Amino acid sequence: MVSPDEKSAAGGEFELISRYFDRGPPRRALLGIGDDCAVLAAPRPGHVFAMATDMLVCGTHFLEDADPASVGHKALAVNLSDLASMGAQPVAFTLAIALPRVDPDWLARFCCGMFELADRSDCELVGGDTTRGPLNITVTVIGEMPAGSAIRRDAAQPGDDLWVSGELGGAAFAVASATQGSPLPADHPAQRRLDWPEPRNRLGLELRHLARAAIDVSDGVCADLGHLLERSRVGAQLCWPDVPCDAVLAGLAEDQQMRFSLSGGDDYELLFAAAPENREAIDALATRLALRLTRIGSFDSGDSVRIIDRTGRRIEWSGRGFDHFA
Ligand code: ADP
Ligand code: MG
Repeated sequence: MVSPDEKSAAGGEFELISRYFDRGPPRRALLGIGDDCAVLAAPRPGHVFAMATDMLVCGTHFLEDADPASVGHKALAVNLSDLASMGAQPVAFTLAIALPRVDPDWLARFCCGMFELADRSDCELVGGDTTRGPLNITVTVIGEMPAGSAIRRDAAQPGDDLWVSGELGGAAFAVASATQGSPLPADHPAQRRLDWPEPRNRLGLELRHLARAAIDVSDGVCADLGHLLERSRVGAQLCWPDVPCDAVLAGLAEDQQMRFSLSGGDDYELLFAAAPENREAIDALATRLALRLTRIGSFDSGDSVRIIDRTGRRIEWSGRGFDHFA
């Protein structure tokens, strides 16, 4: 709820909702924006729903002066990435947004970024909440998948290959550049990695048949691989020379490259475990999707990540992923 004053000043909460968020009769939901609940049809026979929520807080996940279109894109993208890592097909989402003030230009651009990705992902906004407060954007997504087909974190096995999509470390490099007072230009590829992450939903759907376990890389490879190992009760060897680093890291000292690509966050690539007999199929999938898929190690019966060189020798390195409460 927005305060009564705010309502009269800005034409009201409901006008705001209908102007920016309500795009007319729902295509997919049985009942969309405008009632107390959205109503969705049950999943197709033999299918189940998957749900995830991710929050973007101004000052923590994006800066006050960030391009509102990229904020709208990213708020949905980070949620779609969670559906991607489980192999769920996007269906619908809700948007809970706190706004310090009603800024029509900001809202229009925010919606532009959010709906462009929503339409491209066939994921419909079906409801939400709009309130006044420090800028905060919380999206909840719903996806659908065949029962029993979820790619979980807890199913990697010793002997599986460790794979990652795309390139790593570009977004973290952009964050570091901004923090050090020399932000990259908005159209720099590494800055775009940070502001416009591309959720790997097509890959996630294909991996249902090829991967045994998966996680999306939001807090950095080491941290997220750690979650996978913990849930699967396995260890892993990660071959550092095989890690696909973002082009922006070329020329940096090796420990810097490791810091950005292994403990930098915001990549939104998929890290997954697959049986060695699927190598050829995964290589063929990479070609079909025009997306780099790289085998960067393997799982074992240990309980931690060992970073190694090509000869199998351990590389000592103490980097960590991002933890909001560390
Ligand atoms: P209630 O008071 O019953 O919680 P609201 O007044 O918060 O309902 O919202 C009115 C309608 O507008 C609801 O259908 C709600 O889902 C929708 N809505 C509110 N905010 C948003 C938003 N940011 N995005 C999409 N739908 C929204
Ligand atoms: Mg409400």
